[in-house]
Amino acid sequence: MDNDNPGKDLQLIEKYWRHVSSSQGFKYFPLVVSRAKASKVWDINGREYIDFLSSAATYNIGHSNEEVIKAIKEHLDKFIHYCLYLYHEPAIELSELLTEITLGNHRKKVVFGLSGGDANDTALKAAFIYTRRPGVISYTYSYHGTTALGIAVGGSFREEIRKAIPFKDVYFVEYPDTYRCGNIEDPRECGEYHLSKLEDTLKRVNPSSIAAIIMEPIQGDGGVLVPPENYVKGLFKLARENGIIIIDDEVQTGMGRTGKWLAIEHFNVEPDLVVLGKALGGGMPISAVIGRSEILDAAPPQTFFATSAAHALSCVAAIATIKYIKNYNLVEKARELGDYAVKRLNELKEKYEIIGDVRGKGLMIGVEIVKERKQKTPDRKTALKIIWRAWEKGLIMMTYGKYGNVLRIAPPLVISREELDAGINIVDEAIRDVLEGKV
Ligand code: PLP
Repeated sequence: MDNDNPGKDLQLIEKYWRHVSSSQGFKYFPLVVSRAKASKVWDINGREYIDFLSSAATYNIGHSNEEVIKAIKEHLDKFIHYCLYLYHEPAIELSELLTEITLGNHRKKVVFGLSGGDANDTALKAAFIYTRRPGVISYTYSYHGTTALGIAVGGSFREEIRKAIPFKDVYFVEYPDTYRCGNIEDPRECGEYHLSKLEDTLKRVNPSSIAAIIMEPIQGDGGVLVPPENYVKGLFKLARENGIIIIDDEVQTGMGRTGKWLAIEHFNVEPDLVVLGKALGGGMPISAVIGRSEILDAAPPQTFFATSAAHALSCVAAIATIKYIKNYNLVEKARELGDYAVKRLNELKEKYEIIGDVRGKGLMIGVEIVKERKQKTPDRKTALKIIWRAWEKGLIMMTYGKYGNVLRIAPPLVISREELDAGINIVDEAIRDVLEGKV
């Protein structure tokens, strides 16, 4: 037991809410983290949890990864960081690695940032500066971070919040949701339907006023929506024809999570700019925009400078992270374990009417909870009860999606099959307990 005062967690949480703004809070579980390793987390009472959340898809290489810790310790003996007024080797080595793991043979450059949000902001600014166009196309229920532009283009923010940001040239199109595509069952038809909607929007707003389309290749916070391939291909074609830059936001999907280095690789297309964050630093804060040099070099020197960007400690952590993913074949592992998890979750779907859909790629999986399968009526309340019960039984899992009814399954890619099984068994028991009225 790490804590000899049983009420300490609640006291700490009370103190947290006394000082931290509610605008930065989520009230899921009263869990104060004391330790984390690989796919396990311990609270300050010494309780152990399997982590199906990976700190919001950050720990692809597992918590407290020994290679990352070693790299940080070794670097700390030299210096902490020097801003990019000068040069340092970690940033130089990382920039080269980043251009290698991203698609395309064109000349690529990198701009470093600190969070997924600020990197998306940089990508958008680069697109505005390069094209000298004012508009952006984004998606309903998208999430791109909480910078001013991030909120303005973030389809998951409430409209009045989004509209409070004085950037108005954003046009939202619906992200294809093959589970809820009106009466359309066939994914290809769903793709075509949404392409025609996109074409309509482009015609309406005048395509030569649009600098960029910002898109998650698999929509994460929107509830793990995997778009049909014909949609993505058609979207890229439309963008090319109209000189519109495609910003591929891989903050949540990148670094092997979906069974490819980048989720966009599932669709055989090449984006202009790729945005990485979260898992890139193995837990350290770092993000990057990687893409066509003519776009990223269009802004004058220093435009995208930030004092702590390419922080040397984060860079060595990111280098260690990339090497770890390569050396331990985590991209393939995500694919294999993901297929296995989807199979098991589909077995649960056979068992429980309230599972409407199981979907995803690799270890980015969503399980949609509905009142009744035929009607597909979203059931957020039941989903919340399930994650609460799962937490009581030692599993960290949350919900997301446009209706807040999708169980979010994104464990570290280093999770063992036994731990994955144990976690899915808890999901099974939690659903059973909720249906039996025990929660
Ligand atoms: N883009 C996507 C797709 C995300 O899922 C997130 C975070 O959840 C972000 C951007 C924002 O990243 P950060 O929280 O590091 O700013």
